Amino acid sequence: MINFTVGPVQSGENVREIGGMQIPYFRTPEFSGIMFENERLMKKFAKAGENSRVVFITGSGTASMEAVIMNVFSRKDKVLVVNGGSFGKRFTSLCNIHDIPHTVIGLEEGKALTEAELIPYDQKGYTGFLVNVHETSTGVHYDMDLISNFCRRNGLFLVVDAISSFLADPFDMEAFNVSVMITGSQKALACPPGVSAIVLSADAVERINNQNVKSMYFDLKDALKDGERGQTPFTPAVGILLQLNARLREIEDLGGVDSEVQRISDLAEDFRSKIAGMPFEIFSESMSNAVTPLHPLNASAYDIFTMLKDEYGIWICPNGGELAQRVFRVGHIGALTKKDNSILVDALKDLQRKGLV
Ligand SMILES: *Cc1c(COP(=O)(O)O)cnc(C)c1O
Repeated sequence: MINFTVGPVQSGENVREIGGMQIPYFRTPEFSGIMFENERLMKKFAKAGENSRVVFITGSGTASMEAVIMNVFSRKDKVLVVNGGSFGKRFTSLCNIHDIPHTVIGLEEGKALTEAELIPYDQKGYTGFLVNVHETSTGVHYDMDLISNFCRRNGLFLVVDAISSFLADPFDMEAFNVSVMITGSQKALACPPGVSAIVLSADAVERINNQNVKSMYFDLKDALKDGERGQTPFTPAVGILLQLNARLREIEDLGGVDSEVQRISDLAEDFRSKIAGMPFEIFSESMSNAVTPLHPLNASAYDIFTMLKDEYGIWICPNGGELAQRVFRVGHIGALTKKDNSILVDALKDLQRKGLV
């Protein structure tokens, strides 16, 4: 099987080997040391400020999205939410559930965010901004310069879900003045699902420490306090945190975050050039390196997904809902190579020869 989905993605050998080992007890100086290193490398790769912190949540990316909403916003806020697909919708739902006053900037699927969409909200008393920098469901990558400038001139607290973009696209938390960045273990970190990470700027840490959260598991004050000694309030997914450590160190050894972004960008570029001239249209206006969203011109996207899975042992990522027949996505994150791209493109060409694509 070759897995080109957008998560869980393929893990490298290092990470898989750890998956077969016994889980150690974790209230030890040794495990604390690993957690400190995880925090240090996550901060470094996110290009976060010196006084920023990282909290690791045992729970998928959505758990961290919810924890962030509960810990940094309140009824006194007025938040702008970009909604261009299912992950933008998720932030909107979370604001509804937690009674955070908000306005939704709704975008047509596949469309980029432009200055014109933001201008109506300039100087209108907003306090925060929520965005999924890569709306994975449609493959749109939003313009961080545009968002960052808007938030700066309006003094907005900027929360970025970079779950599928972290390590795949250039990102600089400090330069973009981002207060909170969220990511998950099963995307470009290429570990099993189950852990998500929240990178917090110093101002976000201060906000959390002054917030009264009605939750035990999601009160980030406790996580921050225990994190000072490399620990977590509750039993974390110890095995995944060990795998994450191996993966972060591997990225560091291979040249750090910029090299990893370049590697994924090369892989995306390679795939996109190999399918040139085939009956597919790129679905989104502005792409991340993590994913290529394609609209087949002559066939059902979902049928292509099924045929590749059943007849070739290749998994691409189907879309759900209204886009199911129109769009499929090819991921470039995880342990994939240019040779894997060729195998996928050959399978697509084979289907094309048979008149099925
Ligand atoms: C994968 C993803 C998530 C998290 O989804 P989970 O299933 O909870 O891990 C959130 N936002 C984006 C943009 C994603 O790509």
